[in-house]
Amino acid sequence: MAETSIEWATHVWNPTTGCDRVSPGCAHCYALDLAARLKRFGQPKYQRDGRPGSSGPGFAVTLHERTLTEPLRWRAPRVVFVNSMSDLFHEEIPDEYIARVFAIMQQAAQHTFQILTKRHERLAELAPTLPWARNVWMGVTIENRRFVHRADVLRGVPAAVRFISAEPLLGPLEGLNLDGIDWLIAGGESGAKHRPVREQWLVELRDRCLEQGVPYFFKQWGGQRSKSGGRLLQGREWSQMPEPKERAAELVAGPS
Ligand code: SF4
Repeated sequence: MAETSIEWATHVWNPTTGCDRVSPGCAHCYALDLAARLKRFGQPKYQRDGRPGSSGPGFAVTLHERTLTEPLRWRAPRVVFVNSMSDLFHEEIPDEYIARVFAIMQQAAQHTFQILTKRHERLAELAPTLPWARNVWMGVTIENRRFVHRADVLRGVPAAVRFISAEPLLGPLEGLNLDGIDWLIAGGESGAKHRPVREQWLVELRDRCLEQGVPYFFKQWGGQRSKSGGRLLQGREWSQMPEPKERAAELVAGPS
């Protein structure tokens, strides 16, 4: 497992790798580019090629059985971002494998696991069958107004923290309903072809979070490099973090 530069997690865990683009936020997927480089370096996890149109070299969806049980061997508590190189709810990952990922997270109760998906339909389908332990945070990406309905799916998931990643933010999210949402992360896109984020979109989101008591985390402006523009919004950093809720523990315990 690798350490990570993600501000709110300390490590990443990739029990699967590979993916296919599903929405505009995927256009400049860093994982897709990184997989191609890792393939060239001979990394064994990245030797199968994905579909040319939606994926790329080294980025075919692949299950990594040996990585699956790793969290059980880490003693000290860690904050783990799950599948930085994939989407756990990708259609090619079997239900049974996703259930095993959740079972490991439940067993490795000393860690906090954060999952982020753009595949809200599959999340909705599988959520009732999965154990939502208190250490599992679930998020959806919402990059523009066309995808605000992903939050509606998330609201029905009994995760201890339900979060929205508005990154890369590609437009205003004026129709976004924040009821039942515990955390919102926003940020601009990075890389040579980045699509600039507007201050107005970020400020609107921040103000709505403040009004509704939803912790707000402004990750970065983006630009040529991820840190190019810094992370001050109207002169200050926004690094608010959520408090896990008890809703998951109740569900795992089952009805009395
Ligand atoms: S869903 Fe995530 S990992 Fe998959 S292509 Fe899109 S940005 Fe990349």
